[in-house]
Amino acid sequence: MELHKPKHVVLVSSPGLGHLIPVIELGKRFVLHHNFNVTVLAVTSQTSKTETQILNSAFTPSLCHVICIPPPNLVGLIDENAATHVTRLCVMMREAKPAIRSIISKITPRPSALIFDIFSTEAIPIARELNILSYVFDASHAWMLALLVYSPVLDEKIEGEFVDQKQALKIPGCNAVRPEDVFDPMLDRNDQQYKEALGIGNRITQSDGILVNTWEELQYKDLEALREGGSEALNMKIPIYAVGPIVRESELEKNSSNESLVKWLDEQPNESVVYVSFGSGGTLSYEQTTELAWGLELSERRFVWVVRAPTEGAADSAFFTTGSSESEGDEGLMYFPEGFLSRTCNLGLLVPEWSQQVTILKHRSVGGFLSHCGWGSTLESVTNGVPLIAWPLYAEQKMNATLLSEELGVAVRTAVLPTKKVVRREEIARMVREVIPGNENVKKNEIRERVKEVQRSALKALSVGGSSYTALSQVAKTIEG
Ligand code: UDP
Repeated sequence: MELHKPKHVVLVSSPGLGHLIPVIELGKRFVLHHNFNVTVLAVTSQTSKTETQILNSAFTPSLCHVICIPPPNLVGLIDENAATHVTRLCVMMREAKPAIRSIISKITPRPSALIFDIFSTEAIPIARELNILSYVFDASHAWMLALLVYSPVLDEKIEGEFVDQKQALKIPGCNAVRPEDVFDPMLDRNDQQYKEALGIGNRITQSDGILVNTWEELQYKDLEALREGGSEALNMKIPIYAVGPIVRESELEKNSSNESLVKWLDEQPNESVVYVSFGSGGTLSYEQTTELAWGLELSERRFVWVVRAPTEGAADSAFFTTGSSESEGDEGLMYFPEGFLSRTCNLGLLVPEWSQQVTILKHRSVGGFLSHCGWGSTLESVTNGVPLIAWPLYAEQKMNATLLSEELGVAVRTAVLPTKKVVRREEIARMVREVIPGNENVKKNEIRERVKEVQRSALKALSVGGSSYTALSQVAKTIEG
């Protein structure tokens, strides 16, 4: 009997934990479910302790082979004062291309497929040149993917800024996108990040297929629209595989602060704690940090809050530094209202900078997540049956908030846009109480029931024979040839 040698795929990740985590998790699935050899080629930011831990998780136990490419030097390539996070990422990945090419061309035997995250799509021609199958892994969802691939068409159709449009932006077969919800690169058509995003939208379709971090049952309509679905569709000529939700099952390492947090959670009643966190890069202003503290206190609900030192200006200014600095840890504590810490010491826990989020969301006492709605955090929340308070900050998070609150019914959303206006304490308290009603409110909690339904649907999609399991098996089969 002829024994088949396992196939080898290389996954390329851009810097940032929101990108690296799903890429590594996808890699692990190829290893665990399809017996592939996997190499993760990660352009790192090299500033983050947590990033190192996440990378370590890929080869402990030895699942994936990891090769790190140090961050290219951007001096002279971008305007340090004006370049946005997206511009920085795209330029970094462009500069890293020769290193990516050199590493891949030396791997023997040749890998059977290359899978690029959306910021590394400029490297797709390397696959063509080496005669290797290429896929794009979009760690976001199908509605966002539709906007991305349709953005070059919108660019031709629409005059003026998208945010100034009177009508929602129509995407064939999908829900229209409200002008104020467009993702950050579409906010200013003169900014370099807009051109970078159009480039991604164009290049994505040059691959042999797209893997997207959603599942059929969640976004059937958008997935149909992306495929050849008749006149009201985007009619992409390449296959779209819904392989999600790709989320971490557990944390990487135990540490003493996490153990004391879990001990505290163990002592709280079921579904009584709201977890507050703004992803790997989100920060709040001084005023907003104070209002949030007041809001949590006024809600009289238990909370775990991942606190970062406030910043004025960019809402994503902690990118590339998260988890890197031990000294920054307690700085945020200075910005709370007087007496807040002592008044809430029995109700809440503050975690400086970075938490073990999956452990928290899995805990039975956590009943709500006040989140910036990064897609990774969103999926971690719904797959653990935790409803959200949507507090979008940057990237595509406004679309995510709309999807969660208006289409899926698993979130309440701030009435004002947190990047435009301060969310006031009364509203914060009201939203927290809506998600965690407490004993006095015995009314049926619809949002919680809805999120449990979505959780069941996600678990079914991932189980053997489920839609996402089957989609990844199809990719694996194509790669096996
Ligand atoms: N994360 C974490 N601890 C934190 C903040 C974030 O473990 O204190 C993880 C979170 O579990 C998720 C990722 O970082 O997997 C953030 O990705 P997401 O897509 O939510 O947002 P981004 O950071 O890309 O905006």
